[in-house]
Amino acid sequence: MTITTTEPTDLGDAGRRPGPRDAARRAAVERQLDRWCESDTGTDYDSVVIVGGNGITTHTFAARLARDPRFAGKVVLAGPPVTEDRRLKAGVSLRGYAADFIAYALGVTLDEFVDAVTPGQAPVATRQTVCMADVADGTARFSRVGPWQNHRGRLDRPIVYGFRNSATAAAIARLSAGVTVVPDAPMSAAEARDLALGSRPLIVDATRAGDLVGGRATSGWGIAAAQVPFRTVGDGVRPPMDERTALAPLVRRDGRIDVGYYTPFADALSPEASWYGIMARPIDLRTEGDRKDAELDVLTDELLAIGAASGLEPVDVDETIGRAWVPAPPWTAPESKSGGVFDLRRAVTPGIAAYYADGMTGSAVAGTAAAEAILRGGDPAAAAASALRPIRRWNWVWWFETVKVPWVADRLTRLSPPVALAWPHSTAIKRWSSAA
Ligand SMILES: Cc1cc2nc3c(=O)[nH]c(=O)nc-3n(C[C@H](O)[C@H](O)[C@H](O)COP(=O)(O)OP(=O)(O)OC[C@H]3O[C@@H](n4cnc5c(N)ncnc54)[C@H](O)[C@@H]3O)c2cc1C
Repeated sequence: MTITTTEPTDLGDAGRRPGPRDAARRAAVERQLDRWCESDTGTDYDSVVIVGGNGITTHTFAARLARDPRFAGKVVLAGPPVTEDRRLKAGVSLRGYAADFIAYALGVTLDEFVDAVTPGQAPVATRQTVCMADVADGTARFSRVGPWQNHRGRLDRPIVYGFRNSATAAAIARLSAGVTVVPDAPMSAAEARDLALGSRPLIVDATRAGDLVGGRATSGWGIAAAQVPFRTVGDGVRPPMDERTALAPLVRRDGRIDVGYYTPFADALSPEASWYGIMARPIDLRTEGDRKDAELDVLTDELLAIGAASGLEPVDVDETIGRAWVPAPPWTAPESKSGGVFDLRRAVTPGIAAYYADGMTGSAVAGTAAAEAILRGGDPAAAAASALRPIRRWNWVWWFETVKVPWVADRLTRLSPPVALAWPHSTAIKRWSSAA
């Protein structure tokens, strides 16, 4: 078994001079953490063992703890490394708001973090637009496109980065220091305790299936999604798509709305790609569980047709396309620790994945809040729940709009996109964009 302890990447002199925007971002993060972490009595633990999930959640959580002198060298992350290939497997659209928290957890600037994920020009959107799309026989037609975030186009704050999930996690791991990585996953809290580097460890379950907390409940709902990297053909993207702009094309189909999202993107495993697209549909797994292949085929057709109509072609589609069918957790926030184990994975998951760009946001924001609560002697689950309260609610509102009243969303979007996506989507700009 190879055990390694991370050392910080040398960022060089240029990266180490935070400017006024970095100070503003850090202050915004700290203000929120002060609100969410009520206690400040000092930590109950002297070490942490995190089991499962070599991803954004675990690396952000571990980085924040290991940056504190009391936990440096005493954070163990146990679980098999990610097996990487070109296929997209999880989230890609990382909100600027989430990036602020990751930078804080690492103690680096936003630019240092962004540069560690994709050196050079960052694939970023500073504006979001929406339209309806009618898809038939491999072609797509669009209703009038309209803005839902940053309609004046002046904002230079990052709203969304198009980063491969695993590249983001790997960058966080590279930038963090003092985390001991063990490649085998213990199967019980007792086995996890044996790995602790202190005498009062907190045991943390970040496994996908909840191995240490006896499995996880679901809401009965889930998501079907198809996602692929794109390259531009000809002179670049065509309307309704636009440079530095994320577009949400919505398709009303069979009594529901399929939610699309196309955004600038970069991925070292598909270097030709400059855009990314996803089509996602909420699924009632209790009654539609047998429709997996059919739903994924329709979503794939929509994904490629909308791309083609906007000047995009998929990059090596057979090798890169991701097709996901993922159950969602209950709508409510979880209770505190279960059997002495903190269920980090559940605490950071705000709702149905993949169609509101809030999964990695949950990982980054609630992961940092939970770590901060531990450092201050508070309840990590309560801090994570406070951090995600509005995001969990907005995820539910989006589900209600797309599943229960799709005709309202359709009509309004055709009539006036800014009105259709007013509350909570436009007003939530502070939970999408970087603070500066
Ligand atoms: C199709 C899809 C699209 C999504 N889009 C977004 C989005 O745009 N924005 C957003 O914020 N959230 C999105 N999410 C949710 C988001 O992916 C998760 O909340 C987030 O990945 C959790 O972060 P993590 O790195 O801790 O994940 P973990 O689950 O710990 O994953 C860690 C790594 O494991 C690998 N992995 C993940 N799933 C699998 C699998 N089934 N098989 C093999 N390897 C796997 C990935 O490489 C990933 O980097 C999406 C989820 C899905 C399924």
